[in-house]
Amino acid sequence: MAVPKKKTSPSRRNMRRSHHALKPAAYVECPNCGELKRPHHLCKACGYYDGREVIAAKSETP
Ligand SMILES: [Zn+2]
Repeated sequence: MAVPKKKTSPSRRNMRRSHHALKPAAYVECPNCGELKRPHHLCKACGYYDGREVIAAKSETP
């Protein structure tokens, strides 16, 4: 419920904001190359997602 700004004490305001901190991004090891990648994202190092190559990997043969 909306409350006038001055009625909210600094303590109340800070208690409300105690949940606002950003969490570090999650990372998992790529099952193909072992590089760290974000879950549900394709691996930038090897271009694999869900056990197959989706995009051409940078370090592979041109
Ligand atoms: Zn990989």
